[in-house]
Amino acid sequence: MRARTEMLNELEAADGYLFDLDGTLLSGGALLPDARAMLAEARHNFAIVSNNAEHLPSQIAAMLADLSLDVPAERIVTAGAETLKLVSEELPGAAILLLCSGALSDFAVQRKLVPSDERVDAVVVGRDRNFSYEKLRLAANAVLNGAQLFVANPDLTHPSPGGLIVPETGSLAAAILACTGNVPYRVVGKPEAHLFRRGLSVVGTEARRTIMVGDNHETDGAGAARMGIRYVHIGEHKPSVTPSPTTGNPSLSPQAECAGNTMVRKGRP
Ligand SMILES: [Mg+2]
Repeated sequence: MRARTEMLNELEAADGYLFDLDGTLLSGGALLPDARAMLAEARHNFAIVSNNAEHLPSQIAAMLADLSLDVPAERIVTAGAETLKLVSEELPGAAILLLCSGALSDFAVQRKLVPSDERVDAVVVGRDRNFSYEKLRLAANAVLNGAQLFVANPDLTHPSPGGLIVPETGSLAAAILACTGNVPYRVVGKPEAHLFRRGLSVVGTEARRTIMVGDNHETDGAGAARMGIRYVHIGEHKPSVTPSPTTGNPSLSPQAECAGNTMVRKGRP
């Protein structure tokens, strides 16, 4: 972990800040030591930009409130909710096959999307703890029948506090792609641009005057760099890695033709 003073010094001289959530502000449901100080340094000019593909911003705001951290839901941008907003804007009223949490399913209905198992316009993949063979069968066939495939985040796994891996959204999407072969799909979460743009919009600052603070070079760092946003890395120092398809894994091979979308091996939302 970096020295706190060193990191806080780097946060000076910016107009706004984007903070990753897990591994940056929180770990295992507990606040990390620098979280409160970083948010204080940001003086309300910040947004939390998270690849979380399971919870709604309101749920995360409530969780932070339980930790005595007051962050309005409006300042929390999550990959799961943003994916559904994007689908509802691009395909209003669409029938969609949802592989996600109950909270995100409810949000989809609020956005006037119509959850369905067949003849769907889109397949939306989030972190679905109830992922199953049947869901995989439905999703793969829907995509092969022309449904657009939206993936909330590209992370294959993230670490748990106990050291075990937690399967993430990208691994579920990879299973679908293993069935369908080379088809186009859209990734909404980091390192793609969408969440960064939404975060900048929330903060109201220009990219070049904003700092992204994160713990993942592949998602937070690479995505910020593409956007012209300065990146401050906290947590364990890791070599900077350029995301790339995993060779030899047929589930990931379609990447190359998918506009730079990448599945990330060890993401941390
Ligand atoms: Mg993280």
